[in-house]
Amino acid sequence: MRALYPGSFDPLTLGHLDLIERSARLFDSLEVAVLQNPSKIPAFPLEQRLEQIRLATAHLPGVSVGSFDGLTVEYARHCNAQVILRGLRALSDFEFELQIAHTNHSLAPLVETLFLATSVQHSFLSSSVVREVARFGGDVRHMVPPGVAEDLSRLFNRGS
Ligand code: ADP
Repeated sequence: MRALYPGSFDPLTLGHLDLIERSARLFDSLEVAVLQNPSKIPAFPLEQRLEQIRLATAHLPGVSVGSFDGLTVEYARHCNAQVILRGLRALSDFEFELQIAHTNHSLAPLVETLFLATSVQHSFLSSSVVREVARFGGDVRHMVPPGVAEDLSRLFNRGS
């Protein structure tokens, strides 16, 4: 079975990576896909986010990296994924994720959304928290893969 893990990944965190590593063991193959969201101006350009994910997942056979715009279910069909994977950190994620899952189900009933509970040690992590900490010069090395930590320190002009 093939799964699609869509997200903004702006940037990739250790929480995302944990989810990727765990789901890579569950599925035959996994596509991690960066959504190009026209209503959000990203901190990192698409190509850089793709490179961050490629670098961090290079050790995982069966994991591919891509990008898409438009409907997630269309992209799931396009890459032959039967499952859309999302992570749940806290109750606050639940309502939004449920709404998206129901919408996607109404558009493509054969594509199932599966949720994985975030590992406890990553449940406080989000890309926006990471960006805020890095912006003010805080250490983010326990929150993101090494390549992303370097990109963040370059972005906020503190050397690497
Ligand atoms: P989006 O903008 O689509 O929410 P994100 O890049 O923020 O994209 O997140 C993509 C997916 O990863 C979502 O399902 C989100 O719940 C999940 N996720 C975000 N942070 C973590 C984390 N710390 N641990 C596990 N999953 C996470």
